[in-house]
Amino acid sequence: MTDTRAPSSIVVHETLPVRVVIGPGARDAVPDEVARLGAQRVLLVVTRSAADAGDRLADALGSRLAARFDRPAAHTPVPVTEEAMRLVTGEGIDGVVALGGGSAVGLAKAVAARTGVPQVAVPTTYAGSEVTPVLGETENGVKTTRRDPALAPGTVVYDPELTVSMSPGLTRTSAVNALAHAVEALWAPDATAVTDGLATESVLGILTALPEVLADPADLGARGRLQSAAWLAGLCLAQTRMGLHHQLAHVLGGAFDLPHAELHTLLLAHVMAYDLPAAPAAAARLDRIAGPDPVAAVAALARAHDGPTTLRDLGVPREGLRGIAERVVAQPYPNPRTPDLESLTALLEAAWRG
Ligand code: NAD
Repeated sequence: MTDTRAPSSIVVHETLPVRVVIGPGARDAVPDEVARLGAQRVLLVVTRSAADAGDRLADALGSRLAARFDRPAAHTPVPVTEEAMRLVTGEGIDGVVALGGGSAVGLAKAVAARTGVPQVAVPTTYAGSEVTPVLGETENGVKTTRRDPALAPGTVVYDPELTVSMSPGLTRTSAVNALAHAVEALWAPDATAVTDGLATESVLGILTALPEVLADPADLGARGRLQSAAWLAGLCLAQTRMGLHHQLAHVLGGAFDLPHAELHTLLLAHVMAYDLPAAPAAAARLDRIAGPDPVAAVAALARAHDGPTTLRDLGVPREGLRGIAERVVAQPYPNPRTPDLESLTALLEAAWRG
């Protein structure tokens, strides 16, 4: 019998084992979750903005708390991890809890990568790192990324009350950062029926809940819906290969040390305008969810940010744009449209001008 199936029609879908505890007040479950993992001496990593919640969590952990580290930094610099590791070895740490944004979660992953201790992640932004098996670390200005299922926190506690303190600017940019994970999952080469479903629900959830949250930042229901949609976006990031948008954010962010969520926010509509004509299935899905002009909808969200909205505002030198385009073109991530130097430089110019 002749086999007429193309090898490329075989799809592999992998899901990481993770226990998720979610809902208002869920942070109170953290000590039980730590106990469930059998950890007796945990390191608590706390983002500075979550200092008060960190104090309460430290009290609640009681004798299981062995040490606390309050200085996680963006892009997980190795010297910062080494500082935390001195606590880990000195205090005989057997578990790590991260309370904060992607920077705190990244540091906990870096500790787990070096020790194998179990992690509990308690995210306070929408970055999504808590559900991915990816760790990006920087050393001497170079960012390297590794992927290993062992890096993913086994327990995630989502408490929308911890996101209420986000400013409107951080709420907007962090949510659009999450939106970018879901949008790129729609045109990923390894998209599956599961990731299409996750991405579609995530885009719809973010585009619906973000305006509600911005209208009333203390609305816990809307905060919860936005956090859930961002969780799905994180799963998209974990389960598909990201394309041009994430590559540009990675290369620009590394070259000019730019703020993660703001950079994602100002780039996304430009990349959508570039890619969607070459990604008809993703475009059709986005049309159904976001209305007839998804690019305009995302551009309007980005433009309304009360902080930097262009690469120029972020301090990127115009003469550096072509070099960024050259680096991307030399080794492009999988993307519906193969980037060439001229069109990519034009995209970057547009993002620079705004
Ligand atoms: P972040 O953790 O650096 O936080 C940004 C700022 O927001 C910080 O000043 C922080 O103190 C503050 N903040 C955090 N939560 C807050 C809250 N609830 N209220 C008020 N302020 C708050 O930034 P981020 O955008 O969450 O994460 C970005 C980092 O995560 C980058 O280093 C990025 O590379 C990494 N990341 C990694 C992955 C992955 O899969 N490995 C995925 C996404 C992001």
